[in-house]
Amino acid sequence: SSRVETLEFQAEARALLRLMVHSIYSDKDVFLRELISNASDALDKLRIAALVDQSLREDAEDPHIDIEVDRDSRTLTIRDNGIGMSREDVVGLIGTIARSGTAELLRKLRESADAAASADLIGQFGVGFYATFMVADTVTLVTRKAGEPGGTRWESSGEGTYVIKDVDDVPHGTAVTVHLKPEDAEDRLFDYTDEYKIREIVKKYSDFIAWPIRMAVERPAPATAGEETDGADGGASGDGADTAAGAAATVTEIETLNSMKALWARPRDEVEAAEYNELYRHLSHDWTDPLEVIQMKGEGTFEYEALLFIPSRAPLDLYTRDAKRGVQLYVKRVFIMADCEALLPNYLRFVKGVVDARDLSLNISREILQQDRRIQQVRRRLVRKVLAAVANLRENEPEKYRTFWTEFGAAVKEGLLEDTENEKAILDIVSVASTRDPEQTTTLREYVERMKDGQTEIYYLTGDSRATIENSPHMEAFAARGYEVLILTDPVDEVWVERVGRVDDHPLKSIAKGQVDLDSDDERKDAEAERDEQRKEFAELLTWMTERLKDEVKEVRLSSRLTTSPACVVGDTFDMTPALEKMYRAMGQ
Ligand code: ADP
Ligand code: MG
Repeated sequence: SSRVETLEFQAEARALLRLMVHSIYSDKDVFLRELISNASDALDKLRIAALVDQSLREDAEDPHIDIEVDRDSRTLTIRDNGIGMSREDVVGLIGTIARSGTAELLRKLRESADAAASADLIGQFGVGFYATFMVADTVTLVTRKAGEPGGTRWESSGEGTYVIKDVDDVPHGTAVTVHLKPEDAEDRLFDYTDEYKIREIVKKYSDFIAWPIRMAVERPAPATAGEETDGADGGASGDGADTAAGAAATVTEIETLNSMKALWARPRDEVEAAEYNELYRHLSHDWTDPLEVIQMKGEGTFEYEALLFIPSRAPLDLYTRDAKRGVQLYVKRVFIMADCEALLPNYLRFVKGVVDARDLSLNISREILQQDRRIQQVRRRLVRKVLAAVANLRENEPEKYRTFWTEFGAAVKEGLLEDTENEKAILDIVSVASTRDPEQTTTLREYVERMKDGQTEIYYLTGDSRATIENSPHMEAFAARGYEVLILTDPVDEVWVERVGRVDDHPLKSIAKGQVDLDSDDERKDAEAERDEQRKEFAELLTWMTERLKDEVKEVRLSSRLTTSPACVVGDTFDMTPALEKMYRAMGQ
């Protein structure tokens, strides 16, 4: 009747679990952070649901997270009174990994032989709930979805299957019980049931969590034994049961372990870098530290505070359609929505963070946000601030800028198609490869500064890879004459150079298209005379070749751009380049 089932984890989930059980990640403390983070998300979700559904109001009162320790049975339980899960939710959310990029992660993991690199990859991906299996023999999860009658119990040792069944009389929300592995007690200086250890982890990783994280702690009893105690937050209960005769009496009190302070509201110089890093991890589900923290404040008619993070690594799904985007929206310290797309354009989808606004309705919908003029203004400021922060990295922290560009450059270049308003600012931070130095990229302005006397155009060539471009016959004359050519290999490059057309007064010019004049005036006159000669000499041959090849090419002509190759195919100035043709064909046009 209680529908007991033993089910298999989805293949990808199994592979990740195996890595957790054999714990290649050294920092095991993070399991607690992941559980608290999930509990906090569940409380956020219930609060939002209760705004819409009256019947959930009561369940949403007094949100909190409790940590319960049982030293004798060596268990740790993290309990929240949040949204909870239905049986289907548990199968779908805990038994499988729905996140995109999982397949990609596993493929990379299989390729990478050494453990450190694997741990690194896991760090980049984040393993969430499964992190519990680094410290646990068995994990039990009991949950009931708010507003639904029946509860669900889930249990697994992380070895391929789990057991799930219906249970009655469960409060709404979720309790995760971690049955600690025995070796943690033997090999270590501490144990995860130690009060000080739990305090330390919560302080380190979860201090900013907006809901109280509570735990029963033992305190020395006040002076006179047997006297009634005044609990600090009303949850105190006198308890002298395990006090041996003669020893100092203790009382058990419920203590809130985290400060719940909103970091975005605190002055920058009062916040430790480590605190920002933890908030970032909670927001992004990324285990690495952010590359840059941006704090800003809007005053006047529409007040807000914002804290943005530029990650140091691109998520695996950055270029897939279902990539998460947007920052979290709060209204007066209250969480309103995750992934608020209205606040940042698509090309900055990798930026994480929080925007806390003063004068918005708590019930505001995504659709209304998209149209709200004040939100559009905030968005404009956030964009400018992010672009300025990157420009600043380029100027002052070139190493960080390089990391940024390697990870997010291709996404930022999409901005040249979407965001004409900020074209200048984006062009300012674009870096591209060039023929000048195989190791170093160049900004467009640096290229312009190096242009040869008399050169007015910025030369570029697009292609699949640096090697194809370098070996292209189009390159010969330019290389021979010492002209620098930009090497563009991202698919989006083809499109933005067309769309942007020029940088300041300098047209962007594909060396694969139309006529390119490389000589000075005098040289050109001489060359012109010489070419006239040659044209007469080869006239018959050229006519014959044009005739023979008329289905393939428009015209066969003599060229001055080759030095070693006998011939090359060029496009008309207004023709599509081969790569662009390929892209349009792939798009079905
Ligand atoms: P993530 O938090 O990155 O989505 P997790 O592995 O930590 O990944 O959790 C997977 C999913 O399981 C969550 O997205 C959430 O839907 C669900 N979940 C986990 N813990 C809880 C909880 N305490 N209450 C409600 N749902 C939860
Ligand atoms: Mg999680």
